[in-house]
Amino acid sequence: MTQQLELTNLHVSIEEKEILKGISLSVKPGEIHAIMGPNGSGKSTTAATLAGHPTYSVTSGDMLLDGESLLEKSPDERAQMGLFLAFQYPVEVPGVKVQNFLRHAHQARFADEPKKLFAKVIDFRKHLKALAAELQINPELLTRGLNEGFSGGEKKQLEILQMAVLEPKYAILDETDSGLDIDAIKKVSAGVVKVAKKHGTGVLVITHYKRILEFLKPGFVHVMVKGKIVKNGGPELVDTLEAEGYKDWVGEEN
Ligand code: ADP
Ligand code: MG
Repeated sequence: MTQQLELTNLHVSIEEKEILKGISLSVKPGEIHAIMGPNGSGKSTTAATLAGHPTYSVTSGDMLLDGESLLEKSPDERAQMGLFLAFQYPVEVPGVKVQNFLRHAHQARFADEPKKLFAKVIDFRKHLKALAAELQINPELLTRGLNEGFSGGEKKQLEILQMAVLEPKYAILDETDSGLDIDAIKKVSAGVVKVAKKHGTGVLVITHYKRILEFLKPGFVHVMVKGKIVKNGGPELVDTLEAEGYKDWVGEEN
């Protein structure tokens, strides 16, 4: 069995409309991949389909995590298999404290691995504080309501803390840079790299800006246009796209 997150000729429709028209790519542990592409090309659809969002139906092709198909798995089962997704717009849940939310997420992730679980709440909290310190995240956030009144940067830091708690095999980050200033992007990127190194996580970052990629330094870049991957390359592709845009694939009107 090859260790990788693999999309094989994935076709996805919303209602009757085909959005993804055959996406193939594979991410191996420890690799950082970027999907770039103009608005509406299907990047978030790819992330939501991986997450198991019910709106998106896979009409053909497959998604495999270390050889096992994700198609029949619930979102919780996917998380338990080691898949992590961070979305563009994190939800606010005022009544639920961050540290309790993360404890439940941790228990669900490691339900089948009792050795990873903490018997006492206090021990989980110590672990969580240590992770927050490693990522230079303000510990006061841990006792606040989930994302309640968080700044854009704090929401994204919390996503990275969640990633650190869940120790994913593969992480998908959709527009994690949107709405962040450059210092926040630096901090979040440094956190992603740190967590990914520690756990050998394969990372797929989705963005239409170059900025976050300067810090994440992906080894693999895929260009998505109109539901297809139109080009695969290395880091140099980021500069080409920044200079020339997507006009070769979408036509001059864009
Ligand atoms: P990107 O993230 O690359 O900007 P999306 O994956 O969000 O693109 O969208 C791809 C296409 O799918 C767009 O044409 C968009 O309007 C359509 N789409 C995405 N989500 C939905 C939805 N829930 N209902 C209907 N159309 C959708
Ligand atoms: Mg999107």
